[in-house]
Amino acid sequence: MKNADCFINEKDYPDLKYDRAVRNLQSAIRFRTVNHLDTGLTDYSQFDALHAFLRSSYPLLALNARWEKIGHSLLICLNGSDETLLPALFMAHQDVVPVVEGTEKNWVHGPFSGDLEDGFIWGRGAMDIKQMLIAEMESAEYLLSKGCLPRRGIYFAFGEDEETCSRGAMAIVERLEKEGVRFEYVLDEGAGDVTDAEDWGAPGTHICTVGMYEKGYADLKISASSRGGHSSNPFYGTSLGALADAIHTITHSMPPARMSDSLCASLKLLAPSITQSPMREWARDIGSHENEILQWFSGRESLYHLVKTTAAPTMISPGAPAGNVMPQDMWAVINFRLIPSDTPERLMERFSAAAGKSVSLSWQQQISASVPSDLNSYGYGELVGTLEHYFDGLRFIPAQNKGATDARHYEGLSRCVMRFGPFLEEEDISREGIHGTNERISVRAFAQGVRVLTRLMERTCFI
Ligand SMILES: [Zn+2]
Repeated sequence: MKNADCFINEKDYPDLKYDRAVRNLQSAIRFRTVNHLDTGLTDYSQFDALHAFLRSSYPLLALNARWEKIGHSLLICLNGSDETLLPALFMAHQDVVPVVEGTEKNWVHGPFSGDLEDGFIWGRGAMDIKQMLIAEMESAEYLLSKGCLPRRGIYFAFGEDEETCSRGAMAIVERLEKEGVRFEYVLDEGAGDVTDAEDWGAPGTHICTVGMYEKGYADLKISASSRGGHSSNPFYGTSLGALADAIHTITHSMPPARMSDSLCASLKLLAPSITQSPMREWARDIGSHENEILQWFSGRESLYHLVKTTAAPTMISPGAPAGNVMPQDMWAVINFRLIPSDTPERLMERFSAAAGKSVSLSWQQQISASVPSDLNSYGYGELVGTLEHYFDGLRFIPAQNKGATDARHYEGLSRCVMRFGPFLEEEDISREGIHGTNERISVRAFAQGVRVLTRLMERTCFI
């Protein structure tokens, strides 16, 4: 099944200027807003030019909203007439990842060409995530053109460095916190993976994920020291041996799988479509079969990461220079992706007890999982309702977001922080293009995303 086969109600908003939206996305792609961790390498004039372009392209937003530059990030605030309603926040980021040197020649159209050909808009940012930034602007401009101001306030936050360090998002959040702003809901990029639910026991049912939280990230450094010397006398063992033991012990003493609220809600939603036993029976009575369900999920490549903190040994320092020399100081790194119930503190306690005294453990970096958003919130209900209006035959399930986004920093400002880019491009095209080569989006998927955002904004803010 192609994602585009699910598109329905494509005739909504016939007076919305889709051609203009496409042209504006083409123009936005042409600004080379590549951000580098070493900010000395970043050409900020490209960001300034993008800001000027947005202001001139969306005159009603320029007139009615407050535009504020924080660093090179952009915060736009359109006040609502009803101050008792918390505003909504629509997010995207302005920056794009660089084009890998040497791959330019593999692009059918230049990575910053913004070309429109064969029904596609081509270039960096077409899928990640200038299409969302432009679609959000188009939706608001269109709704303002109807002559009304929103009842619920609408904010837009466009960070400058989501792909590197999210300092822009942190600065915006600091400003919003100072002003005491809270949001009814927040929508940022993310999730949107469409798959057949075969592994859930529901073959033929197509699910699409809405990101409601992000897993944590941690790098554990394991250090070992030994005397070294000639390998003919390994009486006290070697540091490489100690590391190997510790890696084995730690990866075999992981905390047990856990059922999350998202997973529970997804199973309940899918239960009527699950045809395969025994999941069919289990999903109808989750409380009595939690262990069996967790075992089922833990044993499948596409599902285990939903219920478990994962451990991947990724680095080890070079050992001795020759086969007959015992190494002295060595270290290794295990990378973890944490589910919300496993905090770095609890993991460290567990691993220290398991690994014993022959090695020392320390976090190189550690970020807990984010706070899962409220599945009963108004924003989530409205988003799913809107998605069901535009995508036929897809079951939208709450899930963890695969990667990290700027959205995580806004979790203190709302109990509903959703990650979902409503641009359901075909999977092979997304996979090739996002952070890769030939990034592009079909005009059809882009226009459908514009409709989703317009309807969501209309139903929740222009009420
Ligand atoms: Zn992105």
